[in-house]
Amino acid sequence: MQPSEFRAVPGTLYIVATPIGNLRDITLRALDILKTVDLVAAEDTRVSAGLLSAYGIDAKLFSYREHNEQAASAVLLERLREGRSIALVSDAGTPGISDPGAVLARAAREAGIPVVPLPGPSAVATTLSVAGLEAGHWQFYGFLPHKAGDRRRELETLAGFEWPTVFYESPHRLLETVADLAAVLGGERQLLIARELTKRFEEFHACRLKEALDWLQGDENRQRGEFVLVVDGRPVEHDAGLEEARRVLAILLDDLSPSQAARVAARITGAKKNALYDLAQELKTAPKND
Ligand code: SAM
Repeated sequence: MQPSEFRAVPGTLYIVATPIGNLRDITLRALDILKTVDLVAAEDTRVSAGLLSAYGIDAKLFSYREHNEQAASAVLLERLREGRSIALVSDAGTPGISDPGAVLARAAREAGIPVVPLPGPSAVATTLSVAGLEAGHWQFYGFLPHKAGDRRRELETLAGFEWPTVFYESPHRLLETVADLAAVLGGERQLLIARELTKRFEEFHACRLKEALDWLQGDENRQRGEFVLVVDGRPVEHDAGLEEARRVLAILLDDLSPSQAARVAARITGAKKNALYDLAQELKTAPKND
């Protein structure tokens, strides 16, 4: 059975994700809502008119951009209070993610107006889906500051984070940003470059930060289009004390129980008994290599 079509509900704000390249990447529910709302608030009405016309939708458009977000939000809130239904879209991807949308979403929620998210494409989720990050944790940063000094200072504050960080970058600042990433975070960290997601020249390249500039400069086409950068977190420091405790425990466990081994290893290495007991349990259950 096909799920039934949706119709926009009066007095409701819909936050609608739209394609980040391939126009087919739009959900059926997004189309239902865009067809039936009273008004589509758009970052660039010409861009959104193109998307709507590709799907035969003739919607009334209203400009909602970064520099008129406050004023436009006030007008849109008024329309919502009068009972109009509104869809908010950005040029590409999910509104509110490095795009306008936050001011209206918050103001509507605080005014008790239903705010309904319509999930769909976002460059960050699209990249992460193929990045193969096993740790399961990451942070999204978005765009770094444009000025070199501010950018480097910001990177210094991010340097200690131990999980990968996701950046957005435009082609104009790509080389400077990659150079600063290597200079501030160190050249050994792994980088994933995702270029032109869902588009004709979609490309992924993984390398160390110190190798990235050479790769990008090796072919001008590699610097064209839109980019997401995923940079590995701070390398985990080698803990010499723990390594020694592990070695001692492994020997003791040949003849002693985990609790006895932990007690003796604590006396030999000076490490905490509880931590050594957990480690001993881990070593006891881990498969042997030989
Ligand atoms: N709201 C969007 C989202 O949900 O991903 C992001 C909009 S932000 C203004 C534009 C930036 O997102 C680009 O400069 C680029 O870093 C990233 N981006 C958007 N579309 C992309 C694509 N097709 N390929 C690679 N990066 C993309």
